[in-house]
Amino acid sequence: MPAFQTARGMRDLLPEEAERLNYIICKARETAQYYGYREVITPVVEPYELLSAKSGEEIRSRMFTFKDLGDRTVALRPEFTASIARLATKALKNEPKPLRIFSVGSVYRYDEPQRGRYREFWQSNFELMGSNRPEADAETILLTNSLIKATGLRNYSFKIGHIGVIREILSQENVDEKAQNAILQLMDKKEYGKAFRLIKQEKCRKTLQGLLELNGNTAFETVEKIKKHVAGYEKAVAAAENLLGILQLVTESGCPIETVEPVFARGLEYYTGLVFEVYVPELDTALGGGGRYDRLIEVFGGEPTPAVGVAHGLDRIALAMQTQTTALSPRRDKRAVVIPVKQELKAEALKISQMLREAGVSVEFEVMGRKMAKALEDADRRKVDFAVIVGEKELKEGAVVVRDMMKHEQTTIEIGRLTEKIRGKDE
Ligand code: AMP
Repeated sequence: MPAFQTARGMRDLLPEEAERLNYIICKARETAQYYGYREVITPVVEPYELLSAKSGEEIRSRMFTFKDLGDRTVALRPEFTASIARLATKALKNEPKPLRIFSVGSVYRYDEPQRGRYREFWQSNFELMGSNRPEADAETILLTNSLIKATGLRNYSFKIGHIGVIREILSQENVDEKAQNAILQLMDKKEYGKAFRLIKQEKCRKTLQGLLELNGNTAFETVEKIKKHVAGYEKAVAAAENLLGILQLVTESGCPIETVEPVFARGLEYYTGLVFEVYVPELDTALGGGGRYDRLIEVFGGEPTPAVGVAHGLDRIALAMQTQTTALSPRRDKRAVVIPVKQELKAEALKISQMLREAGVSVEFEVMGRKMAKALEDADRRKVDFAVIVGEKELKEGAVVVRDMMKHEQTTIEIGRLTEKIRGKDE
């Protein structure tokens, strides 16, 4: 038999990694609750048509696409937004606005595997639909700030920009949407030369080239410079003002916005306004990113609905936590092993285990038939809090022996008081 491996770009998450990922998922869910986002669960496999409708060539070409047995072309979701947009146009169409929706799960992209870049990875996704106001944009940044803070990461910072500035300049110069998307995509890959070659209009090209060189000492200064630079392109000025409004709201709430990038085109084609990403110094790729997409729901056949959203790369957050050696907050449940002294006491010992589990204690039952000394040695290795030793003599008196594994102390205790003894260490 060959030694089986995971498919290229796919990973097994071993217990410690799975624990870290689950911890982050937990924090994302808590964040959703604190901000009033309701969770939906959508399929991993979606019609190719839905996923490709507005994802942009870049993601389209990296989707895991295949035919199902009914000869339908389907794909593994490369992100959540298309599925959520579908809900917004149908199942959730009549929900009162604003509509706040949260999802978490695995997504799939045929990316070139490297550190922090996988073909199967996890995202938490927040969408806020129905508001075109800067406070809605600010909310997606603030909730990202809350999530990253809750994971214990340090020194993270946000980079923000506004696709509207670039799109409005191009629109005023009659560059059509398809060409705009091609230009933005090249800009996203930092292939500015190629992007500018696609722009025929001299003034437009010069303005965009000039934007690239803009740099202020503070985020606010940069936005002010952008505003001045694009004077003459009215809607681009309005976009810069919108960015300024969002920046004000976010920084006043204490969120670390470090950089404003005048030419910041995030990968996905559907963005129309604010775009942002969050980084830690230890990784050169983003931990999460999002922005405003006011036209997507319309493109999917729904009512025109302004919307803003963010996706967090949970594997990258996990990687950043590992790099910064961020501790997971301590587990609250106590852990015990239950060891019957003799085979005949197994049933009694199992009964005691069930009692403890029902009271919220995590119990590992001795299943290897080990002798007491070996079983205790193993309990020590597993770093449990207590060992419960079920012996004949004590049982006759309705009691067991409890060994505190940290203090190396042991006492005999009535079974009726066992839970209290083990859980009591919480207080
Ligand atoms: P996007 O949906 O492209 O805006 O990505 C949102 C976030 O998902 C990014 O900021 C990353 O943190 C994460 N991400 C994107 N692609 C990958 C990948 N191939 N592997 C791991 N994380 C990824």
